Amino acid sequence: MPDAPLPRRTATEFHLVNGSTGDPLLFVDYPGRDDALLFDAGENGRLPASRLSDLAAVFLTHHHVDHLVGFDRVLRANLDRDKDLRVVGPEGTIDRITARVRTYEYPFFPFQKLRLHLLELGADRLRSAVLDWGAGLPPAEAAERPVDPADLTPTVFENDLLRVEAARVDHTVPCLSFAIVEAPGYHVDGPSLRGGPLRPGPWVSRAMTLLRSGAPGETPVEVDGGIFPLARLRDRYFRKGRGGRIAYVVDTLWSDASRPALLRLCRRATRLYCDSFYAGADLKKARTHKHMTAPQAAELARDAGADHLTLIHVSSRYAGRLDALVAEAAATFPDVTAEDPEGGPLPPSPSPRPRARRGGSPPGEASPA
Ligand SMILES: [Zn+2]
Ligand SMILES: [Zn+2]
Repeated sequence: MPDAPLPRRTATEFHLVNGSTGDPLLFVDYPGRDDALLFDAGENGRLPASRLSDLAAVFLTHHHVDHLVGFDRVLRANLDRDKDLRVVGPEGTIDRITARVRTYEYPFFPFQKLRLHLLELGADRLRSAVLDWGAGLPPAEAAERPVDPADLTPTVFENDLLRVEAARVDHTVPCLSFAIVEAPGYHVDGPSLRGGPLRPGPWVSRAMTLLRSGAPGETPVEVDGGIFPLARLRDRYFRKGRGGRIAYVVDTLWSDASRPALLRLCRRATRLYCDSFYAGADLKKARTHKHMTAPQAAELARDAGADHLTLIHVSSRYAGRLDALVAEAAATFPDVTAEDPEGGPLPPSPSPRPRARRGGSPPGEASPA
């Protein structure tokens, strides 16, 4: 008899930092490991520098300001480190990030050894370049390698636990969506690890490597000066699963051009974070600015067979009316939520909105970038 299917679960911590209405920003943390992932680099003041310095990679969907304005904080938090930080984005990422980081004067202290590995995905090629502070930031030389245009979701990042796929989508400028694909096997059980009594540290990585290599349960593992058998750590802090797929989709039209890649990227996603900039009644605006509506996000979740949908990048014009957008989406896909920035209940309705000025957004409302 075949084994029962492994549970579909993820043990990782996902923080939708600015909730459903702020700049879209997804911080993915692996407890005990210095290899967090950040999706988009918009306003990120809610992320302390100590969390940003844990990053292994930043994934930029595109270069509109609401997805990039926080990149300077990412750079600053990692600059004084001897580390490799990957930045993945669409065409233009190498030139834009290079231009941006060169606007600063650097004292080039000997301990500044950051290596920024830039990678951009185009229609048929991946371009890469390295910005190396240890070498005094010489001009970066780009290298290229072809990608098969028939591959709608090429892999753009990989480590021992997961890979990240990217899909080119249909926005007003070159734009990507991403999905984390976790490898099957042991993963950290985040809530248990947070519950203690052992504190996260380098032992988490060591134990996970041992578990994934099939080491015997009695294998000793050193944790903060104490010795614990691997099986005891396994039973308390780790879970075995087939791994999740977490998709992050923003700033795209739901169109014939984007549909095949999005359906592939989001297939059977454990969790889908999806652009819902507009309500269904504002479909015309969504078409003009190349965004999705909440009902379209639900359609994608349903057709891709996702487990759960979180509406993100909701326009501030719907502040206080998020529940209406959730209800719209739930008509097509019931397992849907929206989050406030603290991750708690949705905020109460604010006072009535001021009227829109002619030809522009209402005061305080972000433009649909
Ligand atoms: Zn945007
Ligand atoms: Zn945009």
